[in-house]
Amino acid sequence: MMKTPLLLRHLFEYAETYFPSEEIVSRGYDNTYRFSYAEYAERTRRLSGALSSLGVGLGDRVGTFLWNDHVHLEAYFGVPAMGAVLHTINIRLAPEQIAYIINHAEDRVLVVDRTLWPILAPLAPQLKTVKAFLFSGPGQLPDVPGALDYEAAIQQATPMSSYPDLDENHPLGMCYTSATTGNPKGVVYTHRGIYLHSLTLGLANTMGLSMEDAVLPVVPMFHVNAWGLPFAALWYGAKIVLPGPAPTPRDLVDLMKDEKVTVAAGVPTVWLGLSRVLEQTGERLFLREAVCGGSAAPEGLIRRFEEEFHIPFVHAYGMTETSPIASVARLKRALVPASDQEKMAAKASQGLLVPGLTVRLERDGQEVPWDGESAGEMCLQGPWIADEYYRDARSEEAFVDGWLHTGDVATIDKNGYIHIVDRTRDVIKSGGEWISSVDLENALMSHPAVFEAAVVGVPHPKWDERPLAFVVLKEGATASKEELLALLAQKFAKWQLPDDILYIDEVPKTTVGKFLKRALRDQYQHYLAG
Ligand code: ADP
Repeated sequence: MMKTPLLLRHLFEYAETYFPSEEIVSRGYDNTYRFSYAEYAERTRRLSGALSSLGVGLGDRVGTFLWNDHVHLEAYFGVPAMGAVLHTINIRLAPEQIAYIINHAEDRVLVVDRTLWPILAPLAPQLKTVKAFLFSGPGQLPDVPGALDYEAAIQQATPMSSYPDLDENHPLGMCYTSATTGNPKGVVYTHRGIYLHSLTLGLANTMGLSMEDAVLPVVPMFHVNAWGLPFAALWYGAKIVLPGPAPTPRDLVDLMKDEKVTVAAGVPTVWLGLSRVLEQTGERLFLREAVCGGSAAPEGLIRRFEEEFHIPFVHAYGMTETSPIASVARLKRALVPASDQEKMAAKASQGLLVPGLTVRLERDGQEVPWDGESAGEMCLQGPWIADEYYRDARSEEAFVDGWLHTGDVATIDKNGYIHIVDRTRDVIKSGGEWISSVDLENALMSHPAVFEAAVVGVPHPKWDERPLAFVVLKEGATASKEELLALLAQKFAKWQLPDDILYIDEVPKTTVGKFLKRALRDQYQHYLAG
């Protein structure tokens, strides 16, 4: 067979050829931008031309500091197709981490939304490798050496008429992921990896993206390739709807309705926010599917979407190191006659490994059986799984003997469904036994009065650690501590129950909307000290 290299330019050229009149909608500050794929392709080729005239060449890193908008989508293809490397920067990291990753990646050019410049401006003197800033969005051109207006630069540029034939293992992009301690760790994606990952998103067993869809990635494009949706959606000729700067749940509902979105993807907190709007207003969405991942989707949330809003809810699992889609929770045929309870357990699990990857569970260096009971660290292999961190000695901890050690503790049941018990760092170690914080949280969130719940292990003089639960109640709702403990006691052994339940206004969140359990652990570390 032909050894045709698997390159991003093929995705782009296919989309440009077959779907010139398909639409890209991008919500801006002042208005909503609309481009046909043909217009988009022309702008993208111009961006490549502009970067080339700035001296960006093969392998050079171009950073983005942007919202989910059309400029970001232009960079998603315009940077890698020309052989440069797309470095998406998390705009919500601490300033010193932002400076660290730009310097570590040695970005040559930064594409920056002007409204985000106040975050970067104080760091600019430290960014020695950056030779030019391309500013998009409204406002004055900031006063910094190398400042250029994005629109002017691409309008003046000569469109890059043909993209180079690269080695398929050439770097395409990079993204930094948070570490438990120390600076973020960089993951480099290759053309081959993203090509195969994008193919996977078109499979009916995973997301089944197609030219019939209108796709809205709520998940930020600075985070793990926005789960691969921008690459795959464009390749398959879907309508692409980009939510722009800081969309509220209300904005998202409006966009989904106005643009007839069929597939949207976000973390559980996004879907929780949307469910609140839908409950309060009684509005209906016509999503083909709500895709949820990034942290465990509580069963209560899945039920609310499926039973109250009649929207199929698909739970997916992945991480920065896995491009990210690694498993998707859909029901296999054998589960069709299963009880409601069994079906829901499968839907709330992290699902089946996507085709193309290999998984094993490991505990103390031994492989753990797939019996639904034995827990071990999940290890992965496959063509879109990273094999190192970029120039980082911490690679040795996570990449061992050709396996990525995910840091997630899981069981796999006889049907092959993966159940993440916890992150190795979040699992509660009480008297030599493990307690899953995720299971307790899900049980608490199944109570109709509970909006959010987080459970963390805090130091205990006798048991090393004990669970402490934090509950956010829905507006105007009540649930006593006794009532919640009684609910948990139906499912859990006595020693697994939280030592206390505390009511808080909001669970602290990470930069991408996941529960920041470390903050609760730190704040309450002496709570059970005796
Ligand atoms: P960060 O560490 O910044 O959250 P990632 O975005 O790469 O970095 O997060 C990956 C982690 O998120 C996984 O290792 C896992 O712990 C968690 N995760 C992702 N999807 C799910 C899911 N569907 N269920 C449970 N945990 C998930």
